Amino acid sequence: MLTSAAQAPLSAAAATYATLLRLPKVELHVHLEGAIPAATLLALARRHGVRLPARTEAEVTDWLQFRDFPHFAEVYQAISRCIQTTDDLEQLTYEFLREQARQAIWHTEFTFTAWTHFHNWGLPYGEQFAALHQARQRAERDFGVSSLIIVDIPRGYASPQQALSMTEQVVLAQASGVAALGLGGYEVGNPVAPYWAAFALAHEAGLPCVLHAGETAGPASIWEALETGHSQRIGHGVRCLEDERLVAHLREHRIPLEVCPSSNVCLKVVDHYAAHPLPTLLAEGLYVTLNSDDPALFSTSLTQEYYKSHCELGLSLATLAQLSHNALAASLLSPTAQARLRDRYFAAPPATWAA
Ligand SMILES: [Zn+2]
Repeated sequence: MLTSAAQAPLSAAAATYATLLRLPKVELHVHLEGAIPAATLLALARRHGVRLPARTEAEVTDWLQFRDFPHFAEVYQAISRCIQTTDDLEQLTYEFLREQARQAIWHTEFTFTAWTHFHNWGLPYGEQFAALHQARQRAERDFGVSSLIIVDIPRGYASPQQALSMTEQVVLAQASGVAALGLGGYEVGNPVAPYWAAFALAHEAGLPCVLHAGETAGPASIWEALETGHSQRIGHGVRCLEDERLVAHLREHRIPLEVCPSSNVCLKVVDHYAAHPLPTLLAEGLYVTLNSDDPALFSTSLTQEYYKSHCELGLSLATLAQLSHNALAASLLSPTAQARLRDRYFAAPPATWAA
């Protein structure tokens, strides 16, 4: 899965930020609401008369930055208050995908918390999914970016019955770019078990399940995501290293991990970036992908994650290119669609994008 840096033809190349910006990438773990560009948030706040504690784009960017968990929750709620209509959702999705294109992220599987907008503003699920679908089609036409939607259950907020009702709608939206059911929110004290029926329904309907697990909670959370949540990939999963049997299981079954180092630093799963266990996960032969999670809130971007992994964790350019290929292979696209993207964006010799 990973070529060693010693064998790689790219290992001598200087991995500058500009180079990594041009590296063709795929992102599998990024939240639409947590990736809101500051300009979009300001525009939506003005449209609906929502007062934010910041007035300019620079002030909003600064206010969005992670300080502690209460502030993070306050920011997330403020973002949710600004997204009131399906037009807002379409605008946000389109502008988010434009930013993905700017970073050469040619395929994105973004997580979307439809429950919040249904709960806050009564936006019907089907209309929300239709708005996102329209935006992703427009973005594909205008910017050449591919995308799929993962609708997550916010653990601890949605009741099991609400999650089940939502999942019935999610299953029906598979033709509109909805590709998976997820589980997000705060892990500790919020197990998968209460939502077992929603994940069973998705699984039986052939809809993949992709759960967050193993970030703020340990290996038991990952086992539960696999066994009760039928999870095909693991959102985060970095704490698998605490359980040798789990590491062996993940390796043997080639279960992809959606690793988000800056998120782990902000949430104090690791002390600082240079202490992140990403190199250990790779050394264990695990199926690793690199992601930004909530880039607007964690002062990051996917390009920034690639750059910091190079500078602070010592990952070679060849390894980073391989992580990008891993993400494409771990995507929920059909083999045909993966091959099409690979031919279009990933087949060019490194010299083309590194020039
Ligand atoms: Zn996440």
